[in-house]
Amino acid sequence: MIKAPIHKIIPHSLVDGPGNRTSIFLQGCNIKCEYCHNPETQKILTDTSDSSPEIKWMTAEEVFQEVKKDIPFIRGITLSGGECTLYPQFLEELFSLSQKAGLTCLIDSNGTIDLSRFPELMETCSGVMLDVKAWDQEKFKRLTGGNNTVVKKNLKYLSDIDKLEEIRIVCIPEEVDVEDILKGIKATIGDKISDTNLRLIKFRNHGVIGRLKDTISPSDAYMNNLKELASELGFNVIKNYI
Ligand code: SF4
Repeated sequence: MIKAPIHKIIPHSLVDGPGNRTSIFLQGCNIKCEYCHNPETQKILTDTSDSSPEIKWMTAEEVFQEVKKDIPFIRGITLSGGECTLYPQFLEELFSLSQKAGLTCLIDSNGTIDLSRFPELMETCSGVMLDVKAWDQEKFKRLTGGNNTVVKKNLKYLSDIDKLEEIRIVCIPEEVDVEDILKGIKATIGDKISDTNLRLIKFRNHGVIGRLKDTISPSDAYMNNLKELASELGFNVIKNYI
C-alpha cells in the first residue's frame, strides 16, 4: 500500500457531509486560494523523507485502523485537504476498506484534478463535494492562481454519474460573482440543479493570510439574497453555511 501525507484526522465532524463523519485532511494542494483557511496544508510533499512534525505519512490500512475506532458513532468518512484527489490510489484503497465496513465515503475537492481518469476510485466513492470558486476563468485565476476548465468538466462528469454530493460556493462580495457561477452550473447540468445540494458559504477571514485577509464577511441579508437568487434559478436544496 502506498503512503499519503496526513495533515489531520478529526474523528467526529458534523460539517463535512451528512451525519457524523470522520474527516481526514491530506497535505498538499495544487492551487493557492486567496481565502484559504488552512494555508499550512498547501505545501506539496514529494516523498516520505519530505515531512514535518505535523505531517504523518500513513497507508490506507493505518488510517482505517484509526477510523475503525469510531465506526459505531459515524456514518462515513470524508477526505479533504489540501486537495485529497492528488492521492487517488490512497483514496481508493481507504474507500475500499471503509465501504466494506458499511461507511459512506465522500471527497471534498477543489475540482481541478480530472476525476474521470479514476473510474475505480469513483466506484468506491459515494459522492464528491465540489468547490466552484469562480465561473469566469480570469476571476478563477485571480482567486486561486489556477485554471477552472477541469472544474467545469468534473461538474458535468459527476452530475452525469450521480456522484455530485454537493456544490460549494464561498461567497465574497466584489470578489466572487455568485450569480455568474449559478448560471454557469445551470447551463452545465441543466434540470439536475433542482435536486443537487447547493451550499452557499459565508466568507470568513479567520486564518486567511492571502490578499483577502482583511476582507469582511458578507451580511446575512446578502446571503439571503443569494439564496433567493439560487432558488429563482431552480436550485431547490440550498444550505447556508454561516
Ligand atoms: S483548494 Fe482548499 S486547501 Fe487548496 S488553497 Fe484552496 S482553500 Fe486552500
